Amino acid sequence: MARIVMKFGGTSVADLDRIRNVARHVKREVDAGHEVAVVVSAMSGKTNELVGWVQNMPKVAGADHSIYDAREYDAVVASGEQVTSGLLAIALQAMGINARSWQGWQIPIRTDNAHGAARILEIEGEDIIRRMGEGQVAVIAGFQGLGPDNRLSTLGRGGSDTSAVAIAAAVKADRCDIYTDVDGVYTTDPRIEPKARRLKKIAFEEMLEMASLGAKVLQVRSVELAMVFKVRTFVRSSFEDPDAPGMGDLLNPPGTLICDEEEIVEQEVVTGIAYAKDEAQISLRRLADRPGVSAAIFGPLAENHINVDMIVQNISEDGSKTDMTFTVPSGDVEKALRVLGENKDKIGYDVAQSESGLVKVSVIGIGMRSHAGVAATAFRALAEKGINIKAITTSEIKISILIDGPYAELAVRTLHSCYGLDKS
Ligand code: ADP
Ligand code: ASP
Ligand code: MG
Repeated sequence: MARIVMKFGGTSVADLDRIRNVARHVKREVDAGHEVAVVVSAMSGKTNELVGWVQNMPKVAGADHSIYDAREYDAVVASGEQVTSGLLAIALQAMGINARSWQGWQIPIRTDNAHGAARILEIEGEDIIRRMGEGQVAVIAGFQGLGPDNRLSTLGRGGSDTSAVAIAAAVKADRCDIYTDVDGVYTTDPRIEPKARRLKKIAFEEMLEMASLGAKVLQVRSVELAMVFKVRTFVRSSFEDPDAPGMGDLLNPPGTLICDEEEIVEQEVVTGIAYAKDEAQISLRRLADRPGVSAAIFGPLAENHINVDMIVQNISEDGSKTDMTFTVPSGDVEKALRVLGENKDKIGYDVAQSESGLVKVSVIGIGMRSHAGVAATAFRALAEKGINIKAITTSEIKISILIDGPYAELAVRTLHSCYGLDKS
């Protein structure tokens, strides 16, 4: 007997038929004698619809702005998961399985008060553990928790993954299965590159980079939690026949295991390619080249919660001045330019230029630590395809390259094949 947390994403619970299919996956594990907690997302598209309503409400009500109360945003967008948790509990009951739904506040899953992007602080799992021990399946609404202000909170987009891993850690589950519409983590997004290969295992650190560099198959925070709390996490498909051979395998279920790098016997130099769309570049021209100038730029941006990513500084022709180029999410460009404009005298630059619609493609692999020339291979391959590089950043296990938006898919495929990821 094992204790298993099963998480089902939006496409897996997209309609009543899909929810019935999910119930069959759950039934398989219950019939095998396991204790089961299930975490569900909202039906696919639902959260986007709810977010759209929230964004439109102020103007429809006569305001001349689109600003809204983040606590009410959470009250609205958390509702999608309430629906699917109830429906799945009903489906399970109809199959003769003892089950009940739990909202985040009922457990409770306690979070901080960063409404819209809250972090889980604590999960009081005793009730669920006791009931699981009595044979009841806990069907938990993902994505939501309870803030210190006693209000509903949500964990940021894609947050049900994090709910699931956090619950698995809290109830000391033997395994956390993230069921989605692909049958594992691939060398790159299989929607972009059909030749992408499924990975049997991927190291926590690589998955962390993949997720933070754009592979939305897992929310970044869920990978962090899995790494810290050593949660045995699998990514697998809900679209396979729930009763196909091997689906109920306890130690080696089909899918990708996220694990310590020591568990990976044959480590490739490059494990995967990720991409993030909607990046924008801002360049400040002819800055004074003096101590404190970076602090003057990035301090105010940070205070305004603008996430700066790649930073490139170069010397202008006359040596006394410098140019600073950095990237922010496209959605933050206007705000960033406003903040920079307000601080123009303090920073001391000539002009601010911006360009939106850029894409960051990244090459990820732990093997890079001990191999030279990995970056050069990428640059050469992109050059051969005529793809211009606008900025580069590297770390021990990744190279990120900023390019023009229209080249995104070509760049992903080019990088994927230049490291032989479509072959090995
Ligand atoms: P869910 O609704 O189940 O949470 P998501 O849409 O959030 O599913 O994540 C699954 C999607 O992630 C896949 O459909 C796939 O297009 C995308 N994806 C991006 N990169 C990868 C990758 N390296 N491996 C697998 N899937 C990936
Ligand atoms: N429904 C939420 C979202 O779309 C959470 C999730 O699916 O993980 O972001
Ligand atoms: Mg997701």
